[in-house]
Amino acid sequence: MVPRSMKPLGLKFTFDELGDETREIRGEVAPAVLEEVVKGMVGELGYRAETPARVEGTAYAAGHDVMIQAHVTAAIGFDCVRCLTARTLNLDFDVRHLLVKRGATDAFPDDDVVLEAGDDAADDETVPFDGETVDLAPVVREDVLLELPMNPTCENATGKACGDLPGVDPQPDVDPRWAPLLDLKKKLS
Ligand SMILES: [Zn+2]
Repeated sequence: MVPRSMKPLGLKFTFDELGDETREIRGEVAPAVLEEVVKGMVGELGYRAETPARVEGTAYAAGHDVMIQAHVTAAIGFDCVRCLTARTLNLDFDVRHLLVKRGATDAFPDDDVVLEAGDDAADDETVPFDGETVDLAPVVREDVLLELPMNPTCENATGKACGDLPGVDPQPDVDPRWAPLLDLKKKLS
């Protein structure tokens, strides 16, 4: 009955659309939507969403719940907290989420889905939903947020310390206490 090659679902779909097959999901979370959470991180500097977050993965129904596995990529810009150079963090990570139908009359579904015992650990991967509509955009947005370091430096973006990178000029508003350390790093490399 079900056609073999179905169009991938977007990031928003209904439980009924999902049916009983594993479905591909594919979509993007727009920069403006990402910026609702990433802007304002890192004090005054803030993160900037330079691209949409691209999401590719699969979804399948597990009882009343929905299991999501996805690969997420996004380019997030920031200014290094040490030398203020503008950098881009190219995020590339996998996530798994169990979307749990909220307010089910039964106790927690006792099927073959394995959940971590600790509440905190389970919270990382389980997301409540109303049992009808799945919207992955806010979920992915949180995933992106969790990937961002609190104090991003050149090293986070490039794997190299600020002083080891070409074109990093000490800027006038850099804390002068960093200067000797940057010089030392240059000598050592
Ligand atoms: Zn730097």
